[in-house]
Amino acid sequence: MNPLLSSPHSARLFAARFAINLDEIFWKSVDFLIPPRCVACGMAGHTFCASCAAAVQLCVAPLCAKCGFPLAGSAGAACDFCSRHSLKVDRLIAAGMHRGPLQLAIHALKYRRNRALAAQLGSLMAAAWPADAPANALLVPVPLARQRRSARGFNQAEVLARQLGWRLGLRVDGAVLQRTRETRSQVGLGAVARGENVSGAFTASARRLRGRRAVLIDDVCTTGATLSECAIALRAAGAPLVWAFTLARAART
Ligand SMILES: [Zn+2]
Ligand SMILES: [Zn+2]
Repeated sequence: MNPLLSSPHSARLFAARFAINLDEIFWKSVDFLIPPRCVACGMAGHTFCASCAAAVQLCVAPLCAKCGFPLAGSAGAACDFCSRHSLKVDRLIAAGMHRGPLQLAIHALKYRRNRALAAQLGSLMAAAWPADAPANALLVPVPLARQRRSARGFNQAEVLARQLGWRLGLRVDGAVLQRTRETRSQVGLGAVARGENVSGAFTASARRLRGRRAVLIDDVCTTGATLSECAIALRAAGAPLVWAFTLARAART
């Protein structure tokens, strides 16, 4: 018997890898027929060229021990934001800062349906995956509001989670978290208003979670309000530990 199919978990992983490979083959064929332009600098021949990928500002130490925001001072200290707000995730980490080429790439992924980018952005996340992250964690994408999901046709958080999951050999479950109500866009809201906007907006399925440690996945973290609400729901459903890992971290104003 194919060892990849020897357990339900392996079979699911195999199916996920097969789907991702099909997706990549499809997009490589599209690239062959219609040569892409870099979503950040416009250079022909690449969806996200090597020099733009190299120009992504990574979140590197020293970082806030709680929220992972780059610090000006020493490592391990809490940042100003964490001294005033209480994040409900056990730890928050991002791969890079939401500016420059990474901001343009995320915009292309979300609004121009450029799913060819997903593989490159998934690689970037996998490279930034912390060595001390909880083993065998379940990757849980933050659900998109129903209206935005149907307008966009996909949830970028789930696309990134699946890319990351197959690279790291971790399971992804896009149905653990559900929205209990629709919320307005968080764009343009301050930290307090963001918290109020998403308060109690999520519920998690204990049956799907089965007491596992969870890592929330999203494209961008701004204040952490949505991630905090998702963490509250996951903990209520029995998650003993909830981390959050996002592709990008918004700069603070
Ligand atoms: Zn470029
Ligand atoms: Zn912090």
